[in-house]
Amino acid sequence: MQAIEAFFRGRIWMKQFIPFPKELVQEVIDRGDAIVISGISADGECGRCQETSPDYVISYACATCGKVCSYCRTCIKMGRISSCTELVLWTAPAILNAGPRAFGWNGSLTPLQANASKAIADSIQKGADHLLYAVCGAGKTEILFSPIHEALQKGLRICVAAPRTDVILELSPRFKQAFPDALIHTLYGDSPEQTGYGEIILATTHQLYRFQEAFDLLFVDEADAFPYSLDPSLERAVKKAAKPSAPVIYISATPSKTLQKQIAEHSTIFRRYHGATLPVPAYRAMWNYERHLRKGKLPSPLKDWIEDKLRKKQPFLLFFPSIQLIELASPLLHKIDCAIAAVHSKDPYRKEKVMQLREGALAGLATSTILERGITIPHLQVAVVGADHRVFDRAALIQIAGRVGRSAKDPTGDVIFFHNGITRQMDAARQEILFYNKEEKA
Ligand SMILES: [Zn+2]
Ligand SMILES: [Zn+2]
Repeated sequence: MQAIEAFFRGRIWMKQFIPFPKELVQEVIDRGDAIVISGISADGECGRCQETSPDYVISYACATCGKVCSYCRTCIKMGRISSCTELVLWTAPAILNAGPRAFGWNGSLTPLQANASKAIADSIQKGADHLLYAVCGAGKTEILFSPIHEALQKGLRICVAAPRTDVILELSPRFKQAFPDALIHTLYGDSPEQTGYGEIILATTHQLYRFQEAFDLLFVDEADAFPYSLDPSLERAVKKAAKPSAPVIYISATPSKTLQKQIAEHSTIFRRYHGATLPVPAYRAMWNYERHLRKGKLPSPLKDWIEDKLRKKQPFLLFFPSIQLIELASPLLHKIDCAIAAVHSKDPYRKEKVMQLREGALAGLATSTILERGITIPHLQVAVVGADHRVFDRAALIQIAGRVGRSAKDPTGDVIFFHNGITRQMDAARQEILFYNKEEKA
């Protein structure tokens, strides 16, 4: 494959930022392998993210071309697209590169995992969408390995998308190990540039805007929010990045009812790979915790719980409903033990702090909901401070509880909801966990 095709195939790119000489780009366009389209079409649609809403496609006096142009607000984080922006789209048909491929994963699947894996492979074979409904810790990634290896041998181009960078970063080394001879690209907000053709693309959902009819097979991990009611552009991005006939496999621990209805083919795993049931959250009243924190006092139920974990040398996470409360609690926690740190979504040292907790350099971390998924730390204990707060909905609380007991060596642990009154969402989360546990015993 020519270098420019390797870069381009299935991608949609702003012409001025294509990392190849201008003459070569022009040659490819003249040859008819790629076409140039307007950034915003005459009827006001963004060529990259397909936004059409006049609330997001806005006209302005354009300094670049000196005319009145429209630009797209939806995908502006990836560089502004205006009417006068030229987008280049590769259109030459792909040649499938089928053949035997290395498989570096030699673990074994539980019977439940093996069934799900086979069901997914069958759906892919039929070209049908599939929903893998699996609790946290069910070992979903391993379930995907064999169907992905099969697809790779057929020469298919595969994408695994997840909403958050942490998840993509965790998947990347595991995929590289499982598929040692595959060309794997890992794409997220500020990922280092990756050139050439990626056979397997691991990407945050937003990065899918940069592709068009690229993939023969798509996996959408943590598809809890699908169909994305809050951000329909992400759902559009998935559809646009997939070839029209490509099956999409949705993976979620807490799929919405709509998604469950929408996708005909399902497989479910309500048991963790080590076979133990999920830890059930306990409730503990902690009245006026916010007022206590504002007065510079750590509520005693929380203090007792933390001291217990410190004594047992168990790493812990404390989930807070807001950054403001983390900031209030942080100095108080530090006073108990200076090895308790705090993180939030805007913390540049987030990854390092999680690593330190995993390695035992930190005893505990106070965090916003940002750490609810994608992290696995042995012996982890979890407390939610203010579980009655509206940011902690059913899905978030289930995910938080799912951080605990993920390792086979220690499948138990504390999940405690400190609250100011039990909410419906707390009960819904607890009921759902009890339901999973019962289903698996049946
Ligand atoms: Zn756009
Ligand atoms: Zn312009």
